[in-house]
Amino acid sequence: MTGSAPAPSETSLRGWLRASFEPPDEFLVDAGKHGEILVARIRISVVMVLMLVPLASLVLDPAAERSQHLIGLLITVVALLGSVLVYLTALRDRRQPWLPFVTTVFDVSLISFALLVYAYRVAPHEAVNSLVTFPTYFLALGATCLRFDPRISVFAGLVAISQYLAVVFLVTLTTDLTPSLERPHAPFQWGDQVARLVLLGAATALNTHIVRGMQRQRRLSTSDPLTGIFNRRFFDDHLANEVQRAERYQRPFAVAMVDVDHFKRFNDTYGHAAGDRVLRAVARSLQRAIRRSDIVARYGGEEFVLILRESDPGQAFDRVEQIRRSLAADAFPISRQSYPTRLTVSAGIANWPEDGRDAEGLLAKADQRLFAAKSGGRNRVVGGMAEGEGGPDRGLGAAALPR
Ligand code: GH3
Ligand code: MG
Ligand code: MG
Repeated sequence: MTGSAPAPSETSLRGWLRASFEPPDEFLVDAGKHGEILVARIRISVVMVLMLVPLASLVLDPAAERSQHLIGLLITVVALLGSVLVYLTALRDRRQPWLPFVTTVFDVSLISFALLVYAYRVAPHEAVNSLVTFPTYFLALGATCLRFDPRISVFAGLVAISQYLAVVFLVTLTTDLTPSLERPHAPFQWGDQVARLVLLGAATALNTHIVRGMQRQRRLSTSDPLTGIFNRRFFDDHLANEVQRAERYQRPFAVAMVDVDHFKRFNDTYGHAAGDRVLRAVARSLQRAIRRSDIVARYGGEEFVLILRESDPGQAFDRVEQIRRSLAADAFPISRQSYPTRLTVSAGIANWPEDGRDAEGLLAKADQRLFAAKSGGRNRVVGGMAEGEGGPDRGLGAAALPR
């Protein structure tokens, strides 16, 4: 998770490729985790149903094609054991970014393995003319969309194409695929195999495009149109997650509300368009000032909110105070013709767990301290100081700079 709401251009091939390797944001990672569990359940169900086919054949007609049914049963038993293991791993309550890559390789490899087993245990043409096993590659590739990560769709496609190509080469090089009277089947043709590889490639491109579309929609719904940084909806979701994370790992963090001072006056003096430019410039400055693990969002109007991870009250105060100072020192351009002007901000900080253990409590405290900063004369930071340094509510930032 980064502190920005990036929006790479996808008009060029390079932009599209770059976008295809962009990791999902934390909410899509979360959705992907649920997708992983869903895929794991579907995998178990499909394998159990497929297991019925060789089982029923063995029971109903034990003499006919016994070895083929035993192989089918063996493959489905291995698949079931693997699927149950994957399901138990996916259920674990922790971040496992490697899991979808591993399960994708598992699914695709299981299909390739089945093709090889049929080729060497039943008949070579079963691998290259397969009408049932080969299409299951498309199931495995389609399921990558539920991981909401385009990198997994691309990766799965490449693994499927290279494994199928390897299967075809191996079978053509090591077996005799000429149809005979005892083993009548469609003749082997490279054209058919190339068409199959092209279909796998097309499915990969389609899946990647679907996931990219979901990411784009997600970005539109979480970014602020004026400044391009995260919006209040994203912030609220993120804060709720951050509180859960803090509770689970007992790690401190801080919430800061930052409000531009006398912005109405600025708008009245220089116009709304100049006000918009300044809001964009403030958003850029805040974005530059935070670390990758922190978040800055536009809460509304000329008010911004920050989440500072791993920050105790003293550290949070120092960082917000530094941001306040650097904004006060920045020169904001009003228009090309006029001289740059200066602006100040006021901020209120609330710390987890000192000032509250839930999102509402923290926001209320930060807002209350922002109000105290305004009443205290603006251009200052209130809160976030370690006990013994004057107490949180009395901790005022530097004296107001000249306007
Ligand atoms: P204070 O120091 O107490 O915060 O005073 P203020 O004038 O900044 O606060 P107030 O809440 O009175 O006014 C906020 C102003 O922000 C009013 C509104 O015109 C302006 N504003 C809100 N959203 C936007 C926006 O998207 N663009 C521009 N240009 N101005 C905005
Ligand atoms: Mg204001
Ligand atoms: Mg305001």
